[in-house]
Amino acid sequence: MENPTYIGRFAPSPTGLLHIGSLLTAVASYLDAKAHHGRWLVRMEDLDPPREMAGAASHILHTLAAFGLEWDGEVVYQSQRHALYHTAFTQLQQQQLIYPCYCSRKTWQQAAHMGVDGWVYNGNCRNLASPAPHTKPPAWRIRVPHHTIAFHDAIIGDYAQNLAHDIGDFVLLRADGFWAYQLAVVVDDAAQGITHIVRGQDLLVSTPRQIYLQQCLHAPTPHYAHLPLLVNQHGQKWSKQTLAPALDLNQRETLLRQVFTYLNLPPAPSVNRPQDLLTWAIPHWNLHKLSPHAICTE
Ligand code: GLU
Repeated sequence: MENPTYIGRFAPSPTGLLHIGSLLTAVASYLDAKAHHGRWLVRMEDLDPPREMAGAASHILHTLAAFGLEWDGEVVYQSQRHALYHTAFTQLQQQQLIYPCYCSRKTWQQAAHMGVDGWVYNGNCRNLASPAPHTKPPAWRIRVPHHTIAFHDAIIGDYAQNLAHDIGDFVLLRADGFWAYQLAVVVDDAAQGITHIVRGQDLLVSTPRQIYLQQCLHAPTPHYAHLPLLVNQHGQKWSKQTLAPALDLNQRETLLRQVFTYLNLPPAPSVNRPQDLLTWAIPHWNLHKLSPHAICTE
């Protein structure tokens, strides 16, 4: 029977094809959902057309299906949800939490300090309430609090940030008119009723910003588990930039077994289809056995 208190998701960005690191995230979030008798949703994060690769979204879905990773319900496309992001943006605007920012990166970075995820915005435009007439379109930033935002991660343990010191006022709507990941992800997780987020550790640094936005929008905070990253021999995360090879569909069983090893599952028996490997893995899954340390695949 389905457990209504667990809704998980896999949220790929179609900026490239799936690779071993994304397969690990897909498999871990799938197994965690299924081990809890929960739902597992797929959301296509196609919000940044300049960075996207033609055909990647359908290729990703085809690859998930080929690995037996069957999602529940319809796939949601962020590119079709602007109205929802706009409603949240208006809600934050009414609370006077956001302001337009006309600074170019070059100008403000001269007076900024380095935080935990890049430069901390120096607050130059903080006192602007509404856009100035006849100027270029601004970016819109949210004011962040000075208190600590802390949460407990199922793999990492306790994690905290002081957003004012570590991150700074961050962008929700970019000057080029595109919604920022931080806003869209929070709005969608809330709209889709996501209760558990299992994703890569590269996003750990974003989580306090997302919890802050949940608080401002009166949305619940889901449970978080940030998975260890798969890295190459230079300690770099596998990604498009580090030339991660796309998954070879002729090697599905080998690749799934490889991912199971990284996820500390016991050796799987011989099976006929990739789906059978996943079915075997569900009762063997234990998120709490995962170590937070990066795993070198070479
Ligand atoms: N779309 C993001 C990515 O591919 C993941 C977002 C998330 O899981 O919160 O890195």
